[in-house]
Amino acid sequence: MIEIGTARSRPYRIAVVGAGPAGFYTAGALLDRLGENVSIDIIERLLAPYGLVRYGVAPDHPNIKAVTRVYEKVALNERVRFLGNVTVGTDVPVRDLGTFYDVVVYAVGAQTDRVLGIPGEEFQGSIASTAFVSWYNAHPDFAEFALSLDHERVAVVGIGNVAIDVARILARSSSELARTDIADPALEKLRHSTVRDIYVIARRGPVQAKCTPAELKELGAIEGVDVAVDARDLELDERAEQTLKRNPTATKNMALFRSFAEAPREGSRCIHFKFFTSPIEVLGEHGVATGLRLGRNALTYDEAGSTSVTPTGIEETLDVSLIIRAIGYRSVPIDGIPFDAARGLVPNAEGRVLDPASGSVQEREYVVGWVKRGPRGLIGSNKADAAETVARIEEDLASIGLRADVMAELDAFPAYLSARGARYIEFDHWQLLDRLELARGAAEGRPRVKFVRTEDMIQHLDKSGESEV
Ligand code: NAP
Repeated sequence: MIEIGTARSRPYRIAVVGAGPAGFYTAGALLDRLGENVSIDIIERLLAPYGLVRYGVAPDHPNIKAVTRVYEKVALNERVRFLGNVTVGTDVPVRDLGTFYDVVVYAVGAQTDRVLGIPGEEFQGSIASTAFVSWYNAHPDFAEFALSLDHERVAVVGIGNVAIDVARILARSSSELARTDIADPALEKLRHSTVRDIYVIARRGPVQAKCTPAELKELGAIEGVDVAVDARDLELDERAEQTLKRNPTATKNMALFRSFAEAPREGSRCIHFKFFTSPIEVLGEHGVATGLRLGRNALTYDEAGSTSVTPTGIEETLDVSLIIRAIGYRSVPIDGIPFDAARGLVPNAEGRVLDPASGSVQEREYVVGWVKRGPRGLIGSNKADAAETVARIEEDLASIGLRADVMAELDAFPAYLSARGARYIEFDHWQLLDRLELARGAAEGRPRVKFVRTEDMIQHLDKSGESEV
């Protein structure tokens, strides 16, 4: 830890915008590095903290969610304050936020999805995995999402871990899902689901699949579900064999794909992997999806061994009425912060926000997590990422010090919010909601029963008299 500002009259006031993994690892690293010299506000758009851990991790992966205990410890530190239900850009414009803090760190993640850019993508029945995942995880933005699962055949485009999550949730029996914290409206729809065949569409081959072996293996263990792979797609060319030699993840994936191809199982549902295949067009009638036109690809290698696909001209039509694209997330720009639309992130150098025109550093503004490096990596990847951004903050504070014109009193920002009619909640309010969810879960033999609507959360806080802020 470096010695910062020995003649300081107050601790550094730092805002972390976004209460997901990146935000919490940043707050934790700031506490570790700056200790008594820092006071942190974690500002979150939603009432509930934990971002993708609460709203992204699949309900049947409870062990991954256990990481929230680490984040809770950070939130309960006396140098940290959680301010939920506050949208930066709306409740507080970026230029105003800066007047309350020496440093602002944006940890806002990637809220939306990438698009395929093919005709018919906008048809009813063609949806993004961000919507599907948010819906089954009770994200309040998707409380009214009206999804029918009255489909026998579904296509999931992409073969990353999100595609695998989506396929698994569609394939699992509702009795298994009923033991999880899946959103009640989604569980109800999944109980009556008629889904039988789920096609996972991968534009490249099995060796290039982005999913990880643990997630892939799980598919083979779902009760009553077969996993089908065409053995011809598993015949590898010499370049693919070479890739396998230096890539243990791909080697494990390949072994799993082979085991699926060799040992078909009896099942009432089937997950089919379709490799070397790209969607060309969503077919439809009267704006409703009825099928997916697919093109077979050939894989080409460049000198460095990277692969790309070229269409062979061979096409087929898949008779599917629900199409879920799981081709990656995308960050959303914040008004007042630079954004690189082509890369879908805030331009930065090791977390320092850069002015895109001049390339120079925007003083006192930082990024971390997916909005810094793009939507890649596991939850734990955000820890090293946060450490890097915090190291840059520490270096910069050592030279630029406190901001002279900051309204640094702890009450100043809440008073500003209240004056603007913004209704924020603090961590003890969240803990009350958390206890309610856990108690409702315990009554049903589930880990928790999640609130689906923000209004219901606020109503419960009102009832308990805890929302007086
Ligand atoms: P991802 O891993 O980047 O996978 C995206 C997939 O979409 C790839 O298969 C990609 O194919 C494909 N794709 C992209 N553009 C396409 C196009 N135009 N046409 C057809 N296919 C296209 O992204 P993700 O699945 O959204 O996951 C994001 C991150 O979260 C990853 O790091 C993931 O591991 C992590 N995650 C982890 C878990 C877990 O640990 N259980 C769960 C969910 C997510 P190419 O490879 O050919 O580009």
